[in-house]
Amino acid sequence: MSKHDVIIAGGGLGGLETALVLSKEGMNVCVLERCKQAGGLLQSFRRHNKIMDTSIHYVGSMDKGEALDRYFRYFGIADEIDTVRLDQNCYDNIILDDSRYSFPMGLENFEEYLKSRFPSERRVIPVYCKYIREAGMLSDLENLKNGLFNMDYMDYYTVSASDIIRDNIKDPALFDALWGTSLLYAGIEKITPFYIHAITLYSNLKGAYRFRGGTKSITDALIGKIEQNGGTVMRGTEVARIVVGDDRTKGVVTADGTYFESDSVISDIHPIETFRILDKSARLKPSFISRITSEDNTYGLFCLYLTMKPGSFRYINQNFFIRKGNKRVNYVLLSMQPPADGGEFAEVVTIVTPIPYSAIEMWSDTHIGDRGAEYIDYKERMSEEILDFVSDDFPDIKSAVDHKYTATPLTFRDYTKTPQGSAYGIQKNCNKPYSTFIAGRTKLPGLFLTGQNINVHGVLGVTITSLLTCADLLGSDYLINRIKEKA
Ligand SMILES: Cc1cc2nc3c(=O)[nH]c(=O)nc-3n(C[C@H](O)[C@H](O)[C@H](O)COP(=O)(O)OP(=O)(O)OC[C@H]3O[C@@H](n4cnc5c(N)ncnc54)[C@H](O)[C@@H]3O)c2cc1C
Repeated sequence: MSKHDVIIAGGGLGGLETALVLSKEGMNVCVLERCKQAGGLLQSFRRHNKIMDTSIHYVGSMDKGEALDRYFRYFGIADEIDTVRLDQNCYDNIILDDSRYSFPMGLENFEEYLKSRFPSERRVIPVYCKYIREAGMLSDLENLKNGLFNMDYMDYYTVSASDIIRDNIKDPALFDALWGTSLLYAGIEKITPFYIHAITLYSNLKGAYRFRGGTKSITDALIGKIEQNGGTVMRGTEVARIVVGDDRTKGVVTADGTYFESDSVISDIHPIETFRILDKSARLKPSFISRITSEDNTYGLFCLYLTMKPGSFRYINQNFFIRKGNKRVNYVLLSMQPPADGGEFAEVVTIVTPIPYSAIEMWSDTHIGDRGAEYIDYKERMSEEILDFVSDDFPDIKSAVDHKYTATPLTFRDYTKTPQGSAYGIQKNCNKPYSTFIAGRTKLPGLFLTGQNINVHGVLGVTITSLLTCADLLGSDYLINRIKEKA
């Protein structure tokens, strides 16, 4: 039997980051990850000698001194990952039926760009940008002491992004442009809080970067630091039970029956799974558990990963959000991984599109590699439709493709145990802020939650959430000072 200060169930980004912070601050931590590879959605896979990232396309707030850069410096991993800054003059292209926009980096540049494209909205665009700045800055270090919500800015959590934008902006074309990147947060009008829209946009304006060499490099760097600090990351080790005794957590039991003793357990697993494996003797209000476990999850994404024939498809250091028409495929994000050789041609192109769970539900009882011919046929048809869809804007893409690989939400479900393979977990809802933003410290002594489901998703969002969860154990003033000392 092993005794640890903290056991972390789930070795996705949230689990690894909490383990790193706590081990850095002197705790004896152990991460238990069910998959053979840690990292959760940060996993990369290799085919035909190309490394492909399963999920992450780009991250924001990475310019020197911005939020994520500071957090990665405090973690000690900033210099171990190879990043590529997207184009200053256009990092995101928004291509709509009859218009096209090129968002530049920097909030001031962005504001000027919008004013030049929508002169009739010149007076209200600065108001919208002020709101973006205020809500976006809630990701900054000092805000950690406010916990989950900054009460001075409650409207940003309780009013929808679509309402705040529409209350200020009258031109529907400008709304469509601003809503063009909503795939990044699975935005739903009247539901998605302004905070989620703002933190995503603001962070990208503060330095949007891609990773060269695969997002697995982030996982490797995090694990390296945890191990240097004396912590352990066990892969292929599924947590089957969170043990409760004397009204608090006592540890976990893994699928092979091994007991890991600890007074503190942090779960990076989706709350539905966490509460399924939590001992039923846990004194948590049934209404609390049923509220959290009945919340909607965001839509899932169909992912098409393409390896390109050498020298056939030029690398573009920008993303493309294309929303057109009303066919089954009508909204995609096309992104490219920075070429490993630093050359001018793309090696890997990724295209993702939202799909409803109903499209794949008929295979929900199947598992990876064994879903049958109809499923393979469905994926093939989707791939062709996606390639047809982007061919208007990328006429050479089809002839440049070397190999195609696909993942559906069922793939993500089977790897990460996220219900229905939702891309970003629990859908944040401005009408229900107190049940869709969840505190890291639960009412059960010793049980803590972290990861994309409980607060904000994405690399920046999960990092903020990890720090909030760690602040519950270490104290927020202490943690803020430690980060300030290091970064
Ligand atoms: C297609 C796609 C594209 C994305 N693109 C971007 C992007 O461009 N930029 C960005 O910032 N974010 C992006 N995201 C979001 C980002 O990937 C996630 O928000 C983040 O990686 C989630 O980390 P997590 O630790 O919360 O969850 P997860 O990565 O889901 O980690 C949970 C971990 O728990 C493990 N686990 C589950 N059950 C058990 C158990 N019983 N025992 C042990 N382990 C268990 C799982 O195997 C998994 O490793 C994207 C997501 C998707 C799906």
